[in-house]
Order: sequence, then structure tokens, then C-alpha cells
Amino acid sequence: MKRFAIHTFGCQMNVCDSERMGDVLREAGWVEVANDSDAELVLFNTCCVRGSAEERAFGRLTLMKPWKAQRRERLLVLCGCIPQRDGSALLERFPFLDLVIGTRDYFRLPSLIERVMETGERLAVTCNIGIELPKIQAPRHPHGVTAFVNIMYGCDNFCSYCIVPFVRGREVSRSKEDILKEISQLVAEGVKEVTLLGQNVNSYHDAASGADFADLLAAVNVMPGLERIRFTTSHPRDVSEKLILAMAQLSQVCEHIHLPAQAGSDTVLARMNRGYMRGDYLALVGRLREEIPDVAITTDLMVGFPGETDDDFQETLALCREVRWDAAFMFMYSVREGTAAAQLPDDVPHEVKKARIAELINLQEEISAEKNASLVGSVCEVLIERPSSRNPHDLAGKNRGGRTVIFPGGNARIGDSVHVRVQHSTAHTLMGEIVGVEDFKAGEKSAASKEP
Ligand code: SF4
Repeated sequence: MKRFAIHTFGCQMNVCDSERMGDVLREAGWVEVANDSDAELVLFNTCCVRGSAEERAFGRLTLMKPWKAQRRERLLVLCGCIPQRDGSALLERFPFLDLVIGTRDYFRLPSLIERVMETGERLAVTCNIGIELPKIQAPRHPHGVTAFVNIMYGCDNFCSYCIVPFVRGREVSRSKEDILKEISQLVAEGVKEVTLLGQNVNSYHDAASGADFADLLAAVNVMPGLERIRFTTSHPRDVSEKLILAMAQLSQVCEHIHLPAQAGSDTVLARMNRGYMRGDYLALVGRLREEIPDVAITTDLMVGFPGETDDDFQETLALCREVRWDAAFMFMYSVREGTAAAQLPDDVPHEVKKARIAELINLQEEISAEKNASLVGSVCEVLIERPSSRNPHDLAGKNRGGRTVIFPGGNARIGDSVHVRVQHSTAHTLMGEIVGVEDFKAGEKSAASKEP
């Protein structure tokens, strides 16, 4: 039996790519195992968006040296953004590595692996990040009741700090027809919720049908058997009025938007080449809350961008207090060679970056905790995804706003949608008890309701 294990670093895009690599390998007769010690093939799907993610991947890879040394016929593969950037140099840097493969070539994994096994060659395959879509033939085999679906690849935005356009290529959208076919296949396999993925889903455009992202949401919304639709990521500059109305009106589209703000200072936003100002962001948040009063808004924030003064940072804190995001991913800037920002002096000292990120995290955690506490006493709709990792008798899922909710399972099963009354909360989790089973009806928006 041919057995493989896969380790994923980075964003949902990489998680989705890893799932597709698994599908492609299974189609070729490989079986996935949980432990490297049981596998003949181990893949690392890597991320180079931040220095810390890159160091983690290299650290883990180095630990695989003894695994490879135990049996020479074992194969070690590095995939994703780091190989796309570094190519064959990785074979020199890591002499125990057999194959490096870029971001749009993973559909070729079985033939490349076969070639390496037969010839003993060490290969670097990092081409094809033009405007071609990955040619994936393998059917989807989801692992649970939720699944990611790529609707587009690449990014044309060139935010000055970001390596993504260089390692994932220019923007290219899949056809609406192809996406609907994949989702229908997923639903047939038991999936109840899909997350539509792209670096900037708002610029989705299907050349054949002329559909934009709101049109795509409307088409997915009527897919029989699909209960929920999520999407990520939305560039604030490209959120259209049509999309806001689609979110408000389409029954299966969850009331959650991930809207990376990155910074609160107009000077920093301009240097980041984000294409919007603080006022634009605030106006957008206001408009979203007007149409979808219970919308959950999450964000990405960065501190220590070149030239960020203390006043600039104070503006990020002020934006945090003003918007009151439901949750945020917060990072320290790290130089990414090849980007426009790499030409600027990385002049915010590391200690200052550390102090700023700690202050920002404290503030956001306080806000997240307050927002979650305000939900205590309300009833929310939860799609059950898995047993709780803390207590196997409890179940866990997400409410429509994307918050994790944990509760005693009773007779409920994974894949059920239930109503849960929230009894306790932390900054990241809601805890409660089931009060009823949700009956899904297309055409009705479901949301949290405050109980008397
Ligand atoms: S929108 Fe900006 S931050 Fe996001 S992937 Fe594109 S270039 Fe990177």
C-alpha cells in the first residue's frame, strides 16, 4: 500500500490546496495516514507570506532528516509558496529533499512522484503561474461537513508588503459552471457548508457567463442540500453595493465578512498600496452594518510597517476601538524580498514591533471578549462540525457569524444544525446548550435572537 502524510502551513488557500493534493494522490492509489512514521511519502505545503511561517516550515522540514535517513526509498516533498519562490535552490539547501513543486503544479504530483521513484532523480517543478488554472481531474473527497472551494487563483493587487502575487501569480477565475459542479459533488458527499476562496473574491469574474462574485453567490445559494455559504478574503476597496445586498438577501450566505484593514493610518495605508483610506473603510463597515445589523466583521492588522510612527500606530488602536471587530489576525511586519516594501528601510525596531503587537492584541482580545459576552442569553444556529477537542462528550461547530460554539452533544450528530442558547463565553468561544434543531428553509435568513 502506498501511504502519504501531509503537513500544511499558512492560510485557508493552502489548506484547500492540501485537500486537493490529497484528492489527486488518492485518485492515484495513495492512502492518507496521520503519522509520518507510517508513510512512504511526506509532503510539506508551505507558506512564505510572513517570515515566521517560513521559519516554522523549515524547522519542521529539518526534523524530517532522520525519517528520510531510516529508509532511502521514502520520499520528501516540499510544495506551495516557498518552492514557487526558491525553486531548485531548495534541493541544494536540503539535500534530503526529493521533490519541490510550485503553487499551480500539484495536479501533476502522481506522475512526478512516479518519476522520482523510478529514476531516483531530484526534481524542482515551479512553472505555470501565468494565467492557467490548475488542471485538477480528481473528484473531491471532503473530510467533514464543511469544505473550501477555490473560485479563483492569484492576485493582481500588489499590496507593497505582500509576496502573494509573485508566488501565486496573476488573478484568474474558475468558471461558474465548474465551481457549481464541484460544490454539487461536495454536497453529494455530505458537505453542508462551503467557503468560497480567493485572495480577493470580490474581483471574481467568469468570462464565459459574465458572472461577478455576487452573481456567483446567488447561483450557489440555490444549490439543493447546501445550508451555508462563507467566503474569504474580501479586499475592502472592492466590496460592491451589489455584494452587500447579496449578503443581506441570500438565505444561505452567512452574516460574516473578513475585511482586512491592515492599518489605521492613511499614511501607512498609502505606503502599503491598499487602495483605500481609513474613512473609506469606516464607511464600508457602516454600510454593512446598516444592511446586515448582526454581521460579524473580522480583520487582519499589521504593526511595524516601514516608517510606522507611534502616531500611526495609535491610529490603528483608534480604528480598533471604533470598528470593534469581532476578531482579528494580528502580525508584525517582516520583509519579503521581491516586494515593493522590501525597498523601504525596515526601520521599526523589533522591540517596538513586539510592544505594539502586544498592545494591539490586548485591546482586540478585550473587544472580542466583550462582544462574545454580549451574546450570552441569545440563541444561535450552529452547524455541528466535530467533537470538542477539550471534552469528547461535547460537540463543536460555528454560528453563522463564524464563532466557535461548544455544547453537550446529547442526541445531536455531526452535520446536524441546532439552536444553541449561549450560557458562557470567552474571547474566542461561546459555550451553551441545545434548545432545538434548525429547520432550513431557502429564502429565510437565520440569525441570532436575544431571548427575554
Ligand atoms: S490583496 Fe494584497 S495582501 Fe491580499 S493577497 Fe493580494 S497583494 Fe496580498
